[in-house]
Amino acid sequence: PAPLIPPERRISVIGTGYLGATHAVCMAALGFETLGMDVDTEKVTALSAGRLPFYEPGLEALLREQLASGRLRFTTSYEEVAGFAEVHFSCVGTPQRADGPGAELAYVDAVVEGIGPHLRRPCLLVGKSTVPVGTAERLASRLAELAPVGRDAEVAWNPEFLREGFAVRDTLRPDRLVLGVASDRAERLLREVYAPLLDPRDGSEPVPLVVADLATAELVKVAANSFLATKISFINAMAEVCEVAGADVARLAEALSYDPRIGGRFLRSGVGFGGGCLPKDIRAFMARAEELGVGPAVRFLREVDEVNLRRRTAVADLARELVGGAFRGRRIAVLGAAFKPDSDDIRDSPALAVADRVQREGAEVTVYDPKATDNARKAFPALAFADSVGKAAYRADAVLHLTEWAEFRDIDPGELSGTVARQRIVDGRNALDAARWRAAGWTFRALGRP
Ligand code: NAD
Repeated sequence: PAPLIPPERRISVIGTGYLGATHAVCMAALGFETLGMDVDTEKVTALSAGRLPFYEPGLEALLREQLASGRLRFTTSYEEVAGFAEVHFSCVGTPQRADGPGAELAYVDAVVEGIGPHLRRPCLLVGKSTVPVGTAERLASRLAELAPVGRDAEVAWNPEFLREGFAVRDTLRPDRLVLGVASDRAERLLREVYAPLLDPRDGSEPVPLVVADLATAELVKVAANSFLATKISFINAMAEVCEVAGADVARLAEALSYDPRIGGRFLRSGVGFGGGCLPKDIRAFMARAEELGVGPAVRFLREVDEVNLRRRTAVADLARELVGGAFRGRRIAVLGAAFKPDSDDIRDSPALAVADRVQREGAEVTVYDPKATDNARKAFPALAFADSVGKAAYRADAVLHLTEWAEFRDIDPGELSGTVARQRIVDGRNALDAARWRAAGWTFRALGRP
């Protein structure tokens, strides 16, 4: 279809990691002339050549299509970015600080320092990264100091809710758009950028829009992630109780899920959440709340974090018991390395945390993941990796299912029986068909289930 956006509209995207690369490709797909920028030369070279430096379903094809259209390019130059567009999206990382629970804001600050001195005409820097409340306001002051246009270089906040594995769909059809703005001009510019989503011409429903102040927009994101983390830890806390009470958390969750006030999504107990967002976001939120003097308001997140980490221990405990009380000398197959399926992201991955622990206790651990092996090997060189389920499970004393790839749900337990030394499996995701595995002769154990 013909682009809906006037061709003079240009967009720049600073920081082309998971979020930024997706955003840049999708902005081009919406019809904008788009310039992506990153300080990582290798990443820029790869993206320019149509290679996605990470795995995300559908994104590499769309990247190639947009490069071919001529609407999308990449650079490492702040000066070029500053001259290119009126609207700049900032998508750099905000990981957990090395020295504590707070968010590392060095990259976010570096963007303002890098682009600021080059801003010679009115423009809008739109933060998409997840940041502690108050960051946008601070950046706005600093940008006005640095930019030759002063206060005409403005800051807005537009938090991102995309899920890895669904990144393209979530960007082109998000559940909602949140625009944190400090002026009518900023709101107008962002409404123009998102016009294809807010006023779709293809008959689809407009995406719900919330316009708010900067602080509210920043908080929406951490509040959403806090809620999701709490929901997961809630059902995992119920699993802990089920384990000692002899109850079944899967049936419990199913029964809860029919209550529309609760709902079934994010209500599956298992080895818990991980990744580059939920764990660091709840920790950063607690740290920021303490700074603001409202620590007690979110102190429950400490329990949420602890329940979550205890599940990793629980899986290791279950597996140890299954192999006779000690891991030393045992062969353990780990299915999954990514923190979730359809991604090669291993940041704070529960699967690798468990694999690492089991290996440190003396087991010979072999990991298989459909996409995340390269990343996992770099981060955990002491683990062994295989390129199929069968090779990972070869002569294993137990198999641990820790990332919910569809491929693992489809394993034929009968077929795998001849490969392993002992037919023992721990389902750390409560996603496998227990009856099927038991019927094939396996000892099947899962968290929170008898
Ligand atoms: P990432 O680490 O994959 O990407 C960050 C990119 O920024 C890297 O490519 C890095 O080289 C680049 N960068 C660092 N400093 C730079 C600078 N000064 N100038 C230009 N580029 C620079 O991180 P990510 O997962 O894309 O996350 C980015 C932000 O988005 C974080 O705040 C995260 O919390 C948030 N977020 C992520 C997701 C997700 O699913 N990954 C979803 C929603 C929100």
